[in-house]
Amino acid sequence: MIIDGKGIAKTIEGELKEQVAELKNKGVEPGLTVVLVGEDPASHTYVRSKEKACKRIGIKSRKILYDADISEAALLAKIEELNGDDSVHGILVQLPLPEHINSEAVIHAIDASKDVDGFHPVNLGKMFLNEPSFWSCTPHGVIELLDRSGIEIEGKHAVVVGASNIVGKPMATMLLNREATITVCHIKTKDLAFHTRQADILVVAVGKSNLITADMVKDGVVVIDVGTNRLANGKLVGDVDYENVAKKAAAITPVPGGVGPMTIIMLMKNTIESAAKHARSK
Ligand code: NAD
Repeated sequence: MIIDGKGIAKTIEGELKEQVAELKNKGVEPGLTVVLVGEDPASHTYVRSKEKACKRIGIKSRKILYDADISEAALLAKIEELNGDDSVHGILVQLPLPEHINSEAVIHAIDASKDVDGFHPVNLGKMFLNEPSFWSCTPHGVIELLDRSGIEIEGKHAVVVGASNIVGKPMATMLLNREATITVCHIKTKDLAFHTRQADILVVAVGKSNLITADMVKDGVVVIDVGTNRLANGKLVGDVDYENVAKKAAAITPVPGGVGPMTIIMLMKNTIESAAKHARSK
């Protein structure tokens, strides 16, 4: 089975549109503000996709653009202002930031109740404790993909390759919260194939094309390929040798059209949840 991330994201989009209509009936218009620093073309592309999704769903999106030489203090002052603005339900600072700005300080400055990216330590801590919070969008999207494809998580051996703060680590925690048995692999892992071959569910989030080949998986594995790599010929591929691994897999996500659309839709979901919370607290 090919796990159709694009199609699943479309279904969720329909659900979110209904939620937005209900909120608008109550006089609340969900609002997402994206702060973008510098000229990184990939960041601009990501932000454009997020703006388009907002438009389709009915979320008011605002983009604040800064030159790459903006000071950290000025950026922090803007975040403080957005934290206090009641019409802003979600604040997203597009990463990476220029080197002279401390990304951690910026993420920590965002009010956790508006951190729709789910990167703030309060949200990560709550997720660790399996308490309601904003979950990081990419791993949350993976959980939705599995659930909506009817793939059981409980009791399965899930192997996560990649251990970053934004994908691998929260992914492993979310799968653990769903009572999978977890192995987390990273750059220092010895004999990666030994671990990946044990996987019932294999999630790969590294950023290296062809890292996972067919000899590294068992028959019937479920493969979620988070990686995105641009080849010299312009083609976008994941971290998995899709063609050959797909022959052994019970289910697999394509790149593009797998995890990518889910990341954006989870951002929309978090923004709408934030607006709904805001409406309830009024
Ligand atoms: P990162 O660079 O922060 O982390 C990469 C991780 O991979 C690290 O933990 C590192 O130890 C591990 N790693 C590196 N080489 C390895 C190897 N040879 N074997 C095993 N582990 C290895 O990256 P990230 O931000 O977590 O992103 C990972 C990938 O996922 C990238 O390709 C990124 O573009 C993609 N991504 C996609 C989406 C999406 O929506 N589709 C969202 C976020 C990230």
